[in-house]
Amino acid sequence: MTKKTKEHCSFCGREKPEASLLVSGIEGQICNFCIEQARIILEEESGRKFEAPDIKTSVLKPTEIKAFLDKYVIGQEEAKRVLSVAVYNHYKRIAQREDENEVEIEKSNIVLVGETGTGKTLLARTIARMLHVPFAIADATVLTEAGYVGEDVESILTRLLQAADYNVAAAEKGIIFIDEIDKIARKSDNPSITRDVSGEGVQQAMLKLLEGTDINVPPQGGRKHPEQKMINVNTKNILFIAGGAFQGIEKRIASRLRTNVVGYSFSGLKDEQIDKEHMLQYIAPGDLKAYGLIPEIVGRLPVLTYLNPLEKSTLKRILVEPKNAITKQFTKLFDMDDVALSFDDKALDYIVDKSIEFKLGARGLRSIIEAILIDAMFELPSNKRVKKLHINAAYAEEKFGKASLSKLKAAI
Ligand code: ADP
Repeated sequence: MTKKTKEHCSFCGREKPEASLLVSGIEGQICNFCIEQARIILEEESGRKFEAPDIKTSVLKPTEIKAFLDKYVIGQEEAKRVLSVAVYNHYKRIAQREDENEVEIEKSNIVLVGETGTGKTLLARTIARMLHVPFAIADATVLTEAGYVGEDVESILTRLLQAADYNVAAAEKGIIFIDEIDKIARKSDNPSITRDVSGEGVQQAMLKLLEGTDINVPPQGGRKHPEQKMINVNTKNILFIAGGAFQGIEKRIASRLRTNVVGYSFSGLKDEQIDKEHMLQYIAPGDLKAYGLIPEIVGRLPVLTYLNPLEKSTLKRILVEPKNAITKQFTKLFDMDDVALSFDDKALDYIVDKSIEFKLGARGLRSIIEAILIDAMFELPSNKRVKKLHINAAYAEEKFGKASLSKLKAAI
């Protein structure tokens, strides 16, 4: 046997970084894989199940979940309400003992439809933060059917396992955000014309995850380590939140509403009552099918809600209100150098206007502030005399004028 030089597990020999955790004992160490293995043996021997720590929702009601979301996500009232109820029901479902009740509560996986940068990922991340459960983000665009270049659908679970530090029980109660689900929509209504590698095949593969089954997950992900031992993960209690911009879906919603309007539409709306500026509010599962998601996927994502485009007033609130608002973050950074940073209301307006002008959305706010403050961040730490910095519109304009727009766009 070759001599191990690096720190390694005394039981299986795994070295870091393959073993993400090594716990030292009197003689040698044990890795996270062997701890997990030992847990399984203990469970089998003792007949007891060692569960992941209990999830906090047993005490949190939908209004409380929403109040938590309010601290981080501005606006998007409808999405926050729908999400709060879905999450509450999801964890009630998990708490239900299988044999106790014949009524099986179905999983409330969620789809969030809204332009990019409106807070879809932020909502999912905030829910996970509130519940203290592992959270992983998967980009649907990189997924392919098994056997093709790209990532297998199972890689999503690898990421969740990694986020859970390979605690399988915790991962099995985690949250997965699948971004850009709209990008795996079937391109044509007739699936048999060509083989649609990135579309329907991926949807079929993803269905397996959403349905809730045992899945063999490569702990290191990818196909680069064919020798790795698979970890079994059950997806039954994993909450999936999918997000997508579904560009152009408003037209489909409109045409559906119009065809329904013979006198009244199915929603009971007369044509003149339809708010044509905000069509997403009328979105229905059928619109996702018409867009190219297969009916089985739509069926497995039963909770559907939408996010509004961010208006000027919302962007301004995003700058100052969230618990970790961008202006608060920079104030704290300056405070560490004993400089009191403050922003004039007009300067905030200027920042928001620029973000809208250059179509940078909420993501752009940070880069713009960064560009405005870069000189001060460079100079002030070595200037002991300056104790205050007030950013007014003129200062913002002067500094932002110096920044290159292409650099800003690249930073987003
Ligand atoms: P999406 O997933 O919809 O593309 P994100 O959730 O990634 O958008 O949003 C990008 C960034 O913009 C977030 O990190 C956050 O800072 C900010 N943001 C977007 N929408 C909101 C919102 N409604 N409230 C607070 N911040 C927001």
